[in-house]
Order: sequence, then C-alpha cells, then structure tokens
Amino acid sequence: MIRSEISLKNTLALTSSADHVAAVDSVADAQDAIEFGRRNDAELRCLGEGSNVVLMPRVSGLICRVTQADITLVNTDAESVTVSVGAGKNWHELVQETLAQNWYGLENLALIPGSVGAAPVQNIGAYGVEVAERLVSVDVVRGDGSVHKMSAADCEFGYRDSIFKRRVADGSQPLLILAITLRLSKRPVVNLSYRDLGKALGLSETKTSVLPSPQQVAEAVISIRRAKLPDPGEHPNVGSFFKNPVVDEGAAARLGELGATPYAFNGGFKVSAAQLIDLAGWKGVRRGDVGCWPQQPLVLINYGQATAQNVLDFANDIQRSVSDTFQVELEPEPSVLS
Ligand SMILES: Cc1cc2nc3c(=O)[nH]c(=O)nc-3n(C[C@H](O)[C@H](O)[C@H](O)COP(=O)(O)OP(=O)(O)OC[C@H]3O[C@@H](n4cnc5c(N)ncnc54)[C@H](O)[C@@H]3O)c2cc1C
Repeated sequence: MIRSEISLKNTLALTSSADHVAAVDSVADAQDAIEFGRRNDAELRCLGEGSNVVLMPRVSGLICRVTQADITLVNTDAESVTVSVGAGKNWHELVQETLAQNWYGLENLALIPGSVGAAPVQNIGAYGVEVAERLVSVDVVRGDGSVHKMSAADCEFGYRDSIFKRRVADGSQPLLILAITLRLSKRPVVNLSYRDLGKALGLSETKTSVLPSPQQVAEAVISIRRAKLPDPGEHPNVGSFFKNPVVDEGAAARLGELGATPYAFNGGFKVSAAQLIDLAGWKGVRRGDVGCWPQQPLVLINYGQATAQNVLDFANDIQRSVSDTFQVELEPEPSVLS
C-alpha cells in the first residue's frame, strides 16, 4: 500500500515527513512500489525503524518500508540451523527468539535497535561480533524489479560498511532488502573476545572458569548496554554518531603521544572515536537542543526540538575540532535522508 504525506518515525525524534511511503510485504509489493516510483518520478529509498538515519524535514521520493517479518527454517543439520528472516522483523526480537530455540551466534548483538533488513546495511556489530559472521545471503529487489540472492561476498562487508551503505551514500538506486539468511550454531560456543564482556560475566584472565551460556552472554550484553547507552525513548539518539577511525602505524604513534590509545586492527590500528571526542573537550557539551551524551560522547542527543540541521552542524563542529586536534577525520555512521 502506498500512502502520501506521511510523517516518519526515527529514534532521534526529528520531525520529518515523506512524499510517499510504501509498505512492502512481498516481491509483488516491491515491484508495485518500483512501478509507482517510475510513473511518478519518485526516487526510491529504504527505511527500517529509523535508528541509524538523520532525516531531513522533508524526504522526497518514495520510502519503502519492508513489513515481512517471518522466520523460516531453511535447513538443519547436527551442527547448525539456517533460517531466512523477513527484513521487517525487529532485530532484538530475532535475537531473543533464536536463543529461545537454542540457536546461537547472535547473543553478542542483543538489544541493537532496528530491523533485520537494516542489519547488513552497516554490518551491525557489537561486543566482538558482526552480523556478517552469521550471514549466508541477502534477498534483494533491484531498481528494475528483478529479485536476486546476494552472497555474503557480494555484500562487500567491512567495518560498519557494505555495498548497501555505499549505495545510499553515493545516491545510487538502493537494493531493497526483503530478507536475510543466517546460519546459526546448535553448539553453545560463546565469543568473549570483548574484554568488558568477560569482566561483566565475572571471568578473570588468570582463572579458568566454567564458560557462560549464550543466554548469560546475551543478558550481560543487555545489562552493559542499558548501563552505558541512553535509551532513545527517553533521550533521542542514533547510537554512535561516528565510526572508530582506522589509522596507520605512524598516526597511531602520534595519537598515542596525544593521549589516545589505538589498538591493532586488521593490519592497521583502530582508535576510539569517543576517546578523541572526549580528549578534544566535547564530552557533555550541549548547544541548544543538541549535545554529546555525558557518559558516552560518541552519542549525540536531541534534548528537545533539535532539527536535523542542528544535529549535522553540531556533528560537523566535532569533526572539525577532532581533525584540528588530531589530524584524524571522523566519518559519520548514520545515513542522511533528504
Ligand atoms: C541506542 C542505539 C544503539 C545502537 N547500537 C548499535 C550497535 O551496537 N551496533 C551497530 O552496528 N549499530 C548500532 N546502532 C545503530 C542501529 O541500531 C543499526 O544501524 C540498525 O541496524 C538500524 O536499523 P533500522 O531498522 O533502524 O534502520 P534505519 O535507521 O531505518 O536505516 C538505516 C539504513 O539502512 C537502510 N535500510 C533500512 N532498511 C532497509 C532495507 N529493507 N533494504 C535496504 N536498505 C535498508 C536505510 O536506507 C538506511 O540507510 C544503535 C542505534 C541506537 C539508537
């Protein structure tokens, strides 16, 4: 169904409306939406639950929201289970429902806001795990209405990056994600590579202890996230506003001298964007209705009636300040839809 002049929900609580919005529950709905876009000269965009976007007051074109949210068993063997999940499913509900079935692998990604369809877009990740590790394929509808199954390799996943995200950034016709296929483990092997997670579970590096169950890992992740991150329902935000920069060895040494603590990552060095923002003096800074969350400066908050432009201006000032202080360019994580 296609409706016009619709206001768009988003976790930054920005006031925004779209020319047209299509609810897409099937391939046929997607094809109808594409045909509508072609006839009305309306550019196609995709939107999930609005937890990783900055929406300008007016979003032109046709917004497609996938509503299909079924979990379908594709295959099962002694070790694993393969499931296809509709893009409209809420991500955290999927994590909880798979854990309840004793299907493992998503526990570190518990409580990430948003929809299943958006998960591959920025290759969601948390506590040492990225969705790419579990992803088998993505079902997409292209701009010409054709349907394709893209393999994980086709998605060109990187750190908070994929072919889908790059297409949004460069203004290409989006690939509408209808469903994703995941392979989950039947064996309760847990990933405790993230140090704070081990600590939260009471594990020490020197003592061998009984490993926690995936359910316990999910509970620990949920409680760390609740303690660390502002609830968008109370303090509207889109989570991390910037990616953690990846730098070379020379820059890492220089940043070390300036008080930052880069760590080895993929042959280079990653540095915490939150740390750079904090060292540049932005922690807790508020201007009008936009500010950095005092406990986590990487999160920008709409304290009331902030506009998208207020948020982008504030983010720009942070980028400039970090660039002047550290010669490091911060890259925003959310996409801007206008
Ligand atoms: C408090 C908080 C904490 C967060 N923590 C994390 C975290 O730990 N790790 C992390 O990775 N992210 C995190 N995020 C960001 C966000 O939760 C994820 O990026 C999530 O996947 C966005 O889902 P969404 O449905 O809200 O997508 P939206 O914000 O609606 O859209 C995001 C992007 O995906 C595209 N898109 C959406 N649906 C589709 C589709 N069906 N087909 C094609 N493109 C589509 C949109 O065009 C847009 O470019 C956090 C956000 C908040 C508010």
